[in-house]
Amino acid sequence: MRLFDEHAVLRFALLFACFLFAAFIPDILGFTDSVKNFIPYFAAIVFLAYVSVFYRFPTTSSAKKLRNDVEIPVQASSATVRDLQKDLLERDEMFQMMVDISSDGFWTFDVPTGKVYWSNRVAKVLGIDINDMGDSFDSLKGCSMESDWENFRSELSNSLKENRPFSVKLRLITSDDLREVLISGRPQFSDERPIRVIGSIGLNVDKATIERQNYFYAYQDSLTGVYNRTFFLEKLKSDVDASAKRPDYTFAVALLDIDSFGAINDSFSTNFGDNVLRIVADRIKNSCRDNDCVARIGPDVFAVILHNIQGGGSEDDLMPIVRRLHNNVKMPIQLDGRELYITVSMSVVVNREVDCVEDIMANANAILRDLKKNGDHGGIQFFSGGIREKAMKLYKLEYEIRRAIQMKEFVLMYQPIVNINDGNKVVGFEALVRWNNSEQGIIPPAEFIPIAEETGLIVPMGALILKMACEQTKKWVDMGYENIKVAVNFSAKQFALDNMVEDVRKILAETRLNPKNLKLEITEYTAMCEVEKTIEIMRALSSMGLQISIDDFGTGYSSLSYLKRYPIHTLKMDKSFVDHVADDEEDAAFARMVISIAKSLNLDLIAEGVENADQLEFLRREGCSQIQGFYFSKPLTPAEALKYMKDHYQADVEVRA
Ligand code: C2E
Ligand code: MG
Ligand code: MG
Repeated sequence: MRLFDEHAVLRFALLFACFLFAAFIPDILGFTDSVKNFIPYFAAIVFLAYVSVFYRFPTTSSAKKLRNDVEIPVQASSATVRDLQKDLLERDEMFQMMVDISSDGFWTFDVPTGKVYWSNRVAKVLGIDINDMGDSFDSLKGCSMESDWENFRSELSNSLKENRPFSVKLRLITSDDLREVLISGRPQFSDERPIRVIGSIGLNVDKATIERQNYFYAYQDSLTGVYNRTFFLEKLKSDVDASAKRPDYTFAVALLDIDSFGAINDSFSTNFGDNVLRIVADRIKNSCRDNDCVARIGPDVFAVILHNIQGGGSEDDLMPIVRRLHNNVKMPIQLDGRELYITVSMSVVVNREVDCVEDIMANANAILRDLKKNGDHGGIQFFSGGIREKAMKLYKLEYEIRRAIQMKEFVLMYQPIVNINDGNKVVGFEALVRWNNSEQGIIPPAEFIPIAEETGLIVPMGALILKMACEQTKKWVDMGYENIKVAVNFSAKQFALDNMVEDVRKILAETRLNPKNLKLEITEYTAMCEVEKTIEIMRALSSMGLQISIDDFGTGYSSLSYLKRYPIHTLKMDKSFVDHVADDEEDAAFARMVISIAKSLNLDLIAEGVENADQLEFLRREGCSQIQGFYFSKPLTPAEALKYMKDHYQADVEVRA
């Protein structure tokens, strides 16, 4: 409690002076009978009396600067603070309940100490860890836009001077987004002195903010912060439109594809892979000019629109920008104490040669595809006319494949697999797809499977193939060929599908085929991708009772330690090793090695592509008994395959016609 108030004493003294003035001065000066002289005298007394009662004495003389430069009057005594703290304690429970149920955060600014107390909710609203909030406005200041912060500071100061509430908007830049909050406060006074400010802080969900946030989510890639595919295509469209209006306007599109990105994820972790993507995105942004549009348009593919390209060695010249981009992205990456070397394949298309969004993208993609196919990792390729034709062809093919799936234009051929240790009896078939095109006739798989894989069309196509193969096999089993096994090729994309095991189970159930009659072939390369996931899928499949073959064995450099862990049944030695077993000692040695690997892992071995008696003799001598190849039979239609079986199925089985 304060003993006396100096302002009250002053008021009292002034009033007392008025009284003396009124009682004695007129007599002393001798103008009591003159009204003219009395008026100014009376006005002076009234003025003095008014001042003594109503004047608000300034307090700023004792003000000191507290944290964050907010001008706050100093507390005369700490006793008032103690009282208020006590008061606050009494209401603490109710206040806490209000704080807990509110979606806003609360804060108090203690004027005497300059300390700020934050409720837990504030951290959520601001997107900052509560431990980083501290007991000042520093963390808020750190993420606010400068002009907004100045506005808040002056509003807070004025509210303390004028004892009025305030409310201001703050735009915050946090690590992953831009948000707007509304911060409000009301000062609390005691004996005309501000003792604290109590305030709230909540997300400002006005229309503009929502629009900004929607924009962020709709157009930004949340992982890397660059634009996403949707925005990129819109921007590309506006550049295409601009060049239609101004024929001299030149822009370029560059696609950058990180080579073997899957291997980075597999070898380290997806988290590590995500950080690599962030670093690459930053490098691309820093290598471009400010107004260029950088986007992530695929898991490991970035795209850049280089607007308004000029020639003649200016800073808008295409070549230096492209070189800078390509050089910067492939610099070694230091991450988690590791040094990582990546290569990036890049394609560049300039709008002078192609003039619509679809053509530009089709060409840029076709170039990348070519680079990858030719093993030209880390290369740069510019668009040229030949590629345009090819891109158009591929575009058309993709459309045609889509249509062919709907029209069920795919047919299966069956190539026999025979056991040369058992009188060349047929033990199974490999189902090989053909496209029976109404205009071009039969098209081999090499011409459409790679495109189907790239476009993802292999997934519906693969399901169709599996169903056709199972239906056919079931017919043969029902005819009495109960032990026949039909192998169906599975592409990497199909194998990686989350519900792949379920889909296979469903098709087996639908066709009522016993799983023992089905084999799935995956290439050695596919088997080596995402090893742990592959093992898991293989286990699930073999526990269903079907068998798994590793196709094209010898081409994928698989390690023996992995092979040992795979629940597989068969290796298929690739044709390229069989071709020269009879006349090339190196190939013969390799074939012997594959045969011994199969034996030591206790796996069946099938030699693919056997075409002549010399190859067959070699394989027989070395102990490879299962043979597939033109020497015995080319792939056959179902009717031909049935005839083949009739002639070469195990003799002791009675077959129903
Ligand atoms: P693959 O799975 O290694 O199939 C063996 C290929 O070798 C077949 O070619 C077959 O006709 C051919 N071939 C077999 N014996 C001989 C021979 O003695 N000499 C010669 N020159 N060739 C022989 P095809 O049918 O053209 O298939 C090529 C590839 O297309 C297949 O290689 C497989 O990777 C893929 N493929 C075929 N059908 C399917 C399918 O239904 N789904 C998927 N995902 N891929 C398929
Ligand atoms: Mg195969
Ligand atoms: Mg093969």
